[in-house]
Amino acid sequence: MVTPLRQDTIRTAPKVLLHDHLDGGVRPATLLDLAAETGYQALPASDPDALAGWFTAAASSGSLERYLETFAHTVALMQDRDAIVRVAAECAEDLADDGVVYAEVRFAPELHVEQELSLPEVIEAVLEGFAQGTASAASRGRAVVMRALLTAMRHAARSTEIAELAVRYRDRGVAGFDIAGAEAGFPPTRHLDAFEYLRRENAHFTIHAGEGFGLPSIWEAIQWCGADRLGHGVRIVDDIAVDDSGTPVLGRLARYVRDRRIPLEMAPTSNVQTGAALSIADHPIGLLTRLRFRVTVNTDNRLMSGCTMTSEMTALAETFGYGWADLQWFTINAMKSAFLPFDERLAIIEKVIKPGYAALA
Ligand SMILES: [Zn+2]
Repeated sequence: MVTPLRQDTIRTAPKVLLHDHLDGGVRPATLLDLAAETGYQALPASDPDALAGWFTAAASSGSLERYLETFAHTVALMQDRDAIVRVAAECAEDLADDGVVYAEVRFAPELHVEQELSLPEVIEAVLEGFAQGTASAASRGRAVVMRALLTAMRHAARSTEIAELAVRYRDRGVAGFDIAGAEAGFPPTRHLDAFEYLRRENAHFTIHAGEGFGLPSIWEAIQWCGADRLGHGVRIVDDIAVDDSGTPVLGRLARYVRDRRIPLEMAPTSNVQTGAALSIADHPIGLLTRLRFRVTVNTDNRLMSGCTMTSEMTALAETFGYGWADLQWFTINAMKSAFLPFDERLAIIEKVIKPGYAALA
């Protein structure tokens, strides 16, 4: 018998997450604890529910200032080793409890060195937290494989240094590299040295592109920088026209992205909050899925968007009428696109994902 698709059943399905920010997924109760420990007075609410509500409201306010303020709080409270270990451990536990079986979680080491930590110490704290959280989830019967992506800020000038750290830690839990931050005015080619270095080192990277800015950003990320994947890539729809008979016609860049199976790390709720899409129903993920682009589903910032992998999958199933086969397709797309060695990806697809969906559908 086919299991009905509901929030609780979707939670039990294996899911894969490629685009999630560590500082965008802190538990509200943990923020309150850390603020009390460090004497941080600036949090805008004093109970977890009110604080969670403040974060989602600020992130969907349409004001960039208020949106950035949300990260100012989380980053301010992640400046010492214990805080970072705790946040990373809880991240692994929360993802495991949400049915995520493989996750790449990214963070920008350069944002966590305002007090006592060096860049390597930040990375080691996150990896320690992932190990602790993975072990505690496993002891409850929930298996999740965690990998880190190191993010460099696109407005800053530390991308080569961060890329070198991604290579230095690649056998210890760091799977790749990314750049993030305001797209307009900060094209990815600004960090070409870092990307060329990573390619010489046979390392993997993704680039936030086509979220706040359009096709030129996507084109540069792929054709100049050589990105393995696109963070969001929503605006690739600008290169897809619809002819008189209603048939989509792909431009050359959109064709290239589809032909080369370049993964799109889409995060519907986050994209609606930032204005990259008007609503989930209007989100290009519907069209791009119909056209069989390599679409993946992601959370981006679980705290700011008030979402989980389960809630994103549920919203898509409700909006577009997706069934288990579609959710499995998104999940296998993501696993195929992971920065994990091929044999390990295959093992998770064959031993975890396919049996998990077979039991539901
Ligand atoms: Zn992001």
